[in-house]
Amino acid sequence: MQKARYAGDGNIHIIDAPDPIPGPGEVVVETAVSAICGSELHAYRGAAQAGNGGHEAVGVIAALGEGVNWLTEGQRVGVSCITGCGKCAFCARGQYTYCPQVRFYGDMHARRFLASAIACHPLPDDVSWEAGVLLSGDGLGVPYHTYVKTASPEIKTVAVLGVGPIGLGNVLLQAHLGRRVIAVDLSPYRLALAQRLGASEAINANEQDTAEALRALTGGVGPDLCIEAAGQTASGMACFKAVRTAGMVVFNGEQGPLPLSPSDHFIRRDITAVGSWFYHFSEFPQMLNLYRNGLRLLDLISHRFPFEKADEAFKQFSSRQSGKVLLHYGESA
Ligand SMILES: [Zn+2]
Ligand SMILES: [Zn+2]
Repeated sequence: MQKARYAGDGNIHIIDAPDPIPGPGEVVVETAVSAICGSELHAYRGAAQAGNGGHEAVGVIAALGEGVNWLTEGQRVGVSCITGCGKCAFCARGQYTYCPQVRFYGDMHARRFLASAIACHPLPDDVSWEAGVLLSGDGLGVPYHTYVKTASPEIKTVAVLGVGPIGLGNVLLQAHLGRRVIAVDLSPYRLALAQRLGASEAINANEQDTAEALRALTGGVGPDLCIEAAGQTASGMACFKAVRTAGMVVFNGEQGPLPLSPSDHFIRRDITAVGSWFYHFSEFPQMLNLYRNGLRLLDLISHRFPFEKADEAFKQFSSRQSGKVLLHYGESA
């Protein structure tokens, strides 16, 4: 079978690879669609690797590993790339991200890939491959998990700092839930996309001071919630500077240390700041309900490429002139 390989310095090669063989508790999925995630870019732009970091994909089960008796060959599934031991209290609640033996599956930009059987979401017939890849990957999962942590009805104005795919998902979901959303980014393309997805205002951080602009748009008070989805020191600090007193900051973007002071940034302004990573396997039904009730999920997709053009797809994604970019694998797609 064929798979994509990060060939180094922002290049993708399609190579021949042995068919994956499922171990106990695993399945092999024949891919219909995979999605490119922003978290892949660092590795994609770095040194050559044996495979790829693809981790959002849907397809048909092609082989079952030992002990997997609740799924069937030919079944349509979306997968969570994060799985757990399957035995602990967290796993019993579908909270694989909290499992002490949390595991990651990658290499999903491939005609076939391995997945953990307990991390497969069977896809109902009314869910297309494209909707399925967004619902089971982190494109909507991270925004949904973030929303669960920020469900307070007191939150009415939300700033999303960084509108790559995760930030765009936050814009879509927060706006769908009736909140006023302000998008912040450096890319005019992505700011325009954010406005089509429901942001009522857009701030270009190249042209304006983010915190000052956010304050100006909120009567000097600041947004109730700032979501950091750029993974940059400047936007992380701008969240604290802009958010209203007694407001909330959520980190989605991975990054290193920030120069934060307990007194200045937390205590005297009564700020709550939390992290939010991936989503819980058990949150899938709620996301499915949102989609069935009109969430315009497919509008997150800006580009579609056949798998053979994966190199072109990654270059498009890497240019920041995109929303979600999908790879399609052929007839079944
Ligand atoms: Zn991801
Ligand atoms: Zn576990």
